[in-house]
Amino acid sequence: MCGTEGAMEDEQLTGDWLYVTCKRCLKIRAKELAARAVEEREQKVRLFDEAQAITLTLGHVNISTAIKCLIRERNELKTELDRVRADRDALLEAGADLL
Ligand SMILES: [Zn+2]
Repeated sequence: MCGTEGAMEDEQLTGDWLYVTCKRCLKIRAKELAARAVEEREQKVRLFDEAQAITLTLGHVNISTAIKCLIRERNELKTELDRVRADRDALLEAGADLL
């Protein structure tokens, strides 16, 4: 609206970008959005690199593969833990019978 020539009435002003028709304002807005998009992309790349640096130490170039492996390992460890607990309980019972 600020780009209008001549009179500018209150009802022409808007706080909502949806209703802005001024080309100059829209251009500035578009530039800002583009800059923000670039920033977000760079941030994404930084986070990706950070995550990949961690998975690389685990021997995985592919982050998804690394996560799947970690989930599988966790499940295996859980199963193993359950087995160890069951063994311990059985041993404790056997020990109690001896006393
Ligand atoms: Zn304007």
